[in-house]
Amino acid sequence: MMRLPLFEFRAPRTLEEAASILDGERANAMPLAGGTDLLPNMKRRQQVPRMLMSLRHIESMNCVALNDSGSRLGACLTLSEIAADRRFRNGLTALAQAASLVATPQIRNMATLGGNICLDTRCNYYDQSYEWRKSINFCLKKDGTTCWVAPGSSKCMAVSSTDTGPALMALGARVRLVSRSEEREVLLADLYNNDGIDYIKRRPDEILAEVSLDSLHGWKSTYWKLRRRGSFDFPVLSVAAAVRLRLLAVR
Ligand SMILES: Cc1cc2nc3c(=O)[nH]c(=O)nc-3n(C[C@H](O)[C@H](O)[C@H](O)COP(=O)(O)OP(=O)(O)OC[C@H]3O[C@@H](n4cnc5c(N)ncnc54)[C@H](O)[C@@H]3O)c2cc1C
Ligand code: SF4
Repeated sequence: MMRLPLFEFRAPRTLEEAASILDGERANAMPLAGGTDLLPNMKRRQQVPRMLMSLRHIESMNCVALNDSGSRLGACLTLSEIAADRRFRNGLTALAQAASLVATPQIRNMATLGGNICLDTRCNYYDQSYEWRKSINFCLKKDGTTCWVAPGSSKCMAVSSTDTGPALMALGARVRLVSRSEEREVLLADLYNNDGIDYIKRRPDEILAEVSLDSLHGWKSTYWKLRRRGSFDFPVLSVAAAVRLRLLAVR
């Protein structure tokens, strides 16, 4: 059985408190949302933060505001909530479909939107136990010097497997990143780096607080996922599309 390493646990009630904790701890602390990605990673010693800071008690991160001028989705909404909510239709159908295709019902009940956007990159040489990774002398992404996917490469090729990411990108989503010193909004399409190690532009002291979207009135969207195992699996290929239909009067 793989055990979690020891860690300190904090559960702030406000975004300000959370930002202040991360500011003080910097690289020693990691935000914990549903834990469906981070906790298995910690058991495999891929990530060993000294402190976990739960985001689940921050009320503003659990809210949804959908109206004619646009939508604001708290980063701690669960994927089950998004998949089941009938307001996530037409323009937002791609997001609901992507959320419903992540992992299994049990995982979707815990997994959050923010966690799905920020999840670590995956690779067969990395998503293994500590002993397995040690037996190949680890790899470039963690504790080693060689990339076993492309041994001549100085760059890690691991990629994010987020399902909601492509759907939200097709919808032009932005994310609000909050730290103690500043708040900034970033287009989701600009959030990721083409690097399996430094894969996200979110700084360690920043919390992804919410996802915002412009009005999707008149839009329709869809998300399709190719996976090896039909019941549940990470995407091998993701396709998301959004279109705005306009009726033109023909004389
Ligand atoms: C068996 C299995 C199958 C899976 N299948 C899929 C799949 O098909 N598709 C898919 O996309 N994923 C899949 N996953 C991965 C994971 O379950 C989901 O991506 C999930 O949405 C992660 O969300 P979480 O809330 O549990 O994140 P967590 O595990 O809590 O966090 C993930 C990462 O994001 C960071 N983080 C979380 N929330 C925030 C925030 N608000 N601000 C800043 N940083 C944050 C954490 O520090 C951590 O680095 C699977 C996992 C398992 C175990
Ligand atoms: S460095 Fe290479 S082997 Fe290691 S996770 Fe990245 S792609 Fe995989």
